[in-house]
This record gives sequence, structure tokens and C-alpha cells, in this order.
Amino acid sequence: MEYNVRHVQDFLKKATRILAITGAGISRASGLPVMSSEFYGIRLEHLFSLEHAQRHQNEFERYYRKMTKEFLHAEPNAAHRTLARHGVHVITQNIDGLDRRAGNKNVIELHGNLHAVRCRTCGYRLPVFQMTASSWQCMRCHGALWPDVVLEGEAVYDLWKAVCLASTCSAALVVGTRLEMSPLVKLLAILRSRHVPIWQINETAEQLVPILFQARELDDECVTLV
Ligand SMILES: [Zn+2]
Repeated sequence: MEYNVRHVQDFLKKATRILAITGAGISRASGLPVMSSEFYGIRLEHLFSLEHAQRHQNEFERYYRKMTKEFLHAEPNAAHRTLARHGVHVITQNIDGLDRRAGNKNVIELHGNLHAVRCRTCGYRLPVFQMTASSWQCMRCHGALWPDVVLEGEAVYDLWKAVCLASTCSAALVVGTRLEMSPLVKLLAILRSRHVPIWQINETAEQLVPILFQARELDDECVTLV
């Protein structure tokens, strides 16, 4: 999609409620793999299917631990930080938690967060770093703990909140995702029906996102000087 950068900068400078819908592409510059890539010889989209995880639970847990360790070293990049700094509401498909680590308080993680585990019986949730190799049992009810991520074939989290945001925002950026999967297609349809301006960023988000918000940065500096 081609657009005039200056025009987008001007629009974003005045916009009051900006939404960014993000996917794996925004985290590529942080060194993280996309779902279609392989992780230690297994395709991520295969690893994260409900059927595969249930059938090969030990393998799933082993890979999940490896992945959590690697993902913990990843740092938010300039795109995550810019969205956080400008109070942009983020709806993400990513499970890397980088928007929250960038300080963004307005994040909907449709697929959950890799750094948390949840009891499948009572819903108790805790950070994964509190777990030891032998403690995959809930300390409250002894139920089975499970990564707090949505697997392929399960319902996403907070869809109604995402729909609310798409129904009330005044501008939208689509970063690092082609919006082909449900329920993102639905969100896109809501934005289009409201004639909200939508700008898509597929490549080098870590460079382009900060540029698009430059006019707001300058405004912020003026306010600080006054
Ligand atoms: Zn429990």
C-alpha cells in the first residue's frame, strides 16, 4: 500500500484514539521468529495447534520452555516503543509481550502471553519464571498448569474489547500482519464500515512507525518547553 508519509504524520498528529493492529512482523527486528518459520526444527504454527499440543504434551512443554527462555531475551524495538509512548491502543496477535515491556498499558493480547501460565481447572495465572521443571501443578487446586497462550483451534481472548476499540478509534495502523486470519478480518470490516483511515506497514516497522509519529514527537517537545 502506498501513501503519503507527510499526510499520515499530519493525521496522526491530530488523531485522538489511534489503534494499531499488530502481528509477527513488528517483532522481527527484535529477533523473534514469525509463525511460519521453524523453531529447533518444528514449524511454530504446527507446535501451536491444539491438536498437536494435546497429543504430544511432553514435547509441547519442552519446546515451550525453550521458547520462553529465548523470547525472554528479546527487547522491544523502536516500533513497540513509539506506539507505547504515544498511548496507541494495540491489538496484537503476538504472544511475545513486547508491547507491555515497552510500557504500553493499552494492549489486547488476542493470543495470550508466552510469559504466563494458567491453571486449566481454576484459572489461577502466574509468571512462567516462577515455575520449576517439576512444578507443572497448580499450587491452589493441583490442576494442570498450561501456557497462557491461545492455540490454533481455541477462541481468542478479549474479542469484545477488540471490537469496542475498532468501533471507537479514529485512525488505524496495521503493522506486520496481513489481517487474513479470523477474527482480524472482522475487525478490518468494522474499521472499513466506519470509514476509518487505515495504513498498512509490512516491512521495516521499526523505522517507519517512528517516522509516522514524528509530528507528534515535535508537538510533545513544544509542550515540554512551554
Ligand atoms: Zn488451579
